[in-house]
Amino acid sequence: MTNILVIIEVAKGKIMGITKECLTVAKELSKDLGAEIEGVILGQGIADLADETIKYGVKKVHKVDDAQFAGTNILYHTRTLEAIIKQFTPPVIIMAGASLYGQEIIPRLAARFNSAMFASVNSLSVEGENLIGIHPLFEEKLLGTMSADKDQLNFVTILGGNNPEAEIDETLSGEVTDFSAVISDSDKREIFVEEIIAKVSVDITKAKLIVAGGRGVGGKEKFAIIYEAAKALGGEVGASRAAVDADWVPYDHEIGQTGKTITPDFYIGLGISGAIQHLVGMRNSKTIIAVNTDEEAPMLDVAHYAIIADLHEVLPELLKKIRG
Ligand SMILES: Cc1cc2nc3c(=O)[nH]c(=O)nc-3n(C[C@H](O)[C@H](O)[C@H](O)COP(=O)(O)OP(=O)(O)OC[C@H]3O[C@@H](n4cnc5c(N)ncnc54)[C@H](O)[C@@H]3O)c2cc1C
Repeated sequence: MTNILVIIEVAKGKIMGITKECLTVAKELSKDLGAEIEGVILGQGIADLADETIKYGVKKVHKVDDAQFAGTNILYHTRTLEAIIKQFTPPVIIMAGASLYGQEIIPRLAARFNSAMFASVNSLSVEGENLIGIHPLFEEKLLGTMSADKDQLNFVTILGGNNPEAEIDETLSGEVTDFSAVISDSDKREIFVEEIIAKVSVDITKAKLIVAGGRGVGGKEKFAIIYEAAKALGGEVGASRAAVDADWVPYDHEIGQTGKTITPDFYIGLGISGAIQHLVGMRNSKTIIAVNTDEEAPMLDVAHYAIIADLHEVLPELLKKIRG
């Protein structure tokens, strides 16, 4: 029987959304392969999260609850995961989100086992004797197909923003087993010092309306009008990574692959081109309005309404209308 082993990523005491997306992919795949889903979770004080993992349809969770895993030390994680994976007999699919963590861990493991790896795929399916992964290229203008024998050991990272997050089902049951950390002296090159969690001033994932600005806003001071519009409309401010990297807006406003995934009733994107890394974080918004000077901006492909104009001309007019 095939096993699918999902690496459960934890941040700030919670199972990451991208892991829940992996669990959805694993569930679909398990139906086609007649596979059983197992999970592996590493950290400190993670007993509750191991139990929660079962409620997503995982039959068996391998838990490594150890003070040495208080921080994310990639070398410790890799060595211990390697020892856990050695217990399995192929066919096995080892799956993680294509987060910074997943992208560090999975290639290292694939190399240690000299196995195939599906890097950053939107989807994974079975066709005959093969597993098929779809990997987007050039901002999703091309879709590459990867294929490997399904009956071997395969490693996969799943891109976020393409699959719904698995939901908790309280009726599900399973088993949690403890596994001891495996760390060699050569791994101790990395020392975990401290986890610094950025101060969060806003949770844009809960907002019903987002007014988001990008590089097209043109500067930190000019971003004031985005804040003004969000306030006038009763929403929150979102931003592209370009605006965050330029230090115009704090990171907790960032939308996209390395930011937040949002599904508000209204998303208004101003001066944002619509790079795929941004789109994956907002394309499921119910109504998308784009304001852009470039009528060929990719954002317009997902927008329900578009205004081809300078945002600094549009926003003052909008504010005038709102304020009567
Ligand atoms: C691994 C990786 C992860 C990434 N993660 C993210 C992520 O999570 N989120 C994210 O957003 N990006 C992310 N990026 C970056 C992404 O690829 C883009 O570079 C970024 O989204 C571009 O931001 P932007 O649209 O604001 O800027 P640009 O692409 O420069 O677009 C600016 C837009 O503003 C328009 N414009 C200019 N002036 C005006 C005006 N006066 N009025 C109206 N429109 C105007 C232009 O026509 C243009 O379309 C990531 C990239 C990588 C490689």
